Amino acid sequence: MNPTDHLGYVGTRALMLALFGPSGTPPAWRADAACAGKDTELFFTTNTTAHALDVCSDCPVIAQCRADHFEWESRTRSRRFYSSGVVAGTTGSERNQSYYPRTTTRKEVA
Ligand code: SF4
Repeated sequence: MNPTDHLGYVGTRALMLALFGPSGTPPAWRADAACAGKDTELFFTTNTTAHALDVCSDCPVIAQCRADHFEWESRTRSRRFYSSGVVAGTTGSERNQSYYPRTTTRKEVA
């Protein structure tokens, strides 16, 4: 398994846990999701990020998805740190930035 495959696997697992829950039982809102039935690779392949974001932008359950996913992902440090894939209209790096805001202040040089 190469590192890219591994990231795809981790990301897919993350999406599945977010969308189906640890019990494997889909939340009720999942039936109305715009991504229902779509290949999850779409959400974890760099060159399809824009397409995945488009799918989310038309999703009627984006608020529920975002709330559930952020709640799940923020629960442990490793999930926050290794956020990956497009979920609820956000990229992994955007979610990582929301968990770990970076400051852009520069030190004054005397
Ligand atoms: S917001 Fe995106 S990831 Fe979440 S259920 Fe809708 S299409 Fe799927």
